[in-house]
Amino acid sequence: MDRLPSAMAASLNGIIRYNAPVVRVERQSTGFRVDYREGAAVRRTEAARVVFAVPASTMRQIDMKPRLSRVKEQAIEQLSYYDGVRFLMPVLASAENGLHFAGEHTSIWTGWMEGALESGERTAREVLNATGRPWPEQTGPTR
Ligand SMILES: Cc1cc2nc3c(=O)[nH]c(=O)nc-3n(C[C@H](O)[C@H](O)[C@H](O)COP(=O)(O)OP(=O)(O)OC[C@H]3O[C@@H](n4cnc5c(N)ncnc54)[C@H](O)[C@@H]3O)c2cc1C
Repeated sequence: MDRLPSAMAASLNGIIRYNAPVVRVERQSTGFRVDYREGAAVRRTEAARVVFAVPASTMRQIDMKPRLSRVKEQAIEQLSYYDGVRFLMPVLASAENGLHFAGEHTSIWTGWMEGALESGERTAREVLNATGRPWPEQTGPTR
């Protein structure tokens, strides 16, 4: 059942870290510091941008420095009480200064695989637009 994501992961040359929950994201002058747990250790990595593709309930457990906007925090909080509330979607999906938000709860297809895929594509476009790079289908035979 996971052959599709496994095949996609294999093409990323081992950059994915498994069993490494993110615990903290801190804005720095040139990007972000991301802390994650690996066993008993807390390790860090640096990133120019961060895409969150975790459930909303998990978002609340990640220590954000600085905090997300008040309206985003409230939407995440509300989602945990009222599952699948579509009017929250635009707030949940909107990027905030180098932070991007994916996952089924950020899509009109809340609760479905379609939502995960749609939000992933939307977020990829956001990052490419922000970094001035074309969508891969525009580059021709590399697709
Ligand atoms: C039993 C069941 C059956 C389903 N059947 C269907 C179906 O038939 N059709 C359908 O369309 N949908 C179905 N769904 C819904 C579908 O699985 C979800 O909509 C979809 O998986 C959501 O994808 P996502 O990427 O948004 O979130 P998820 O798949 O939940 O992915 C979130 C990821 O974030 C990771 N994560 C969590 N916390 C952290 C952290 N702190 N740091 C880093 N990573 C973290 C998790 O390990 C996970 O890999 C089903 C769901 C369930 C539970």
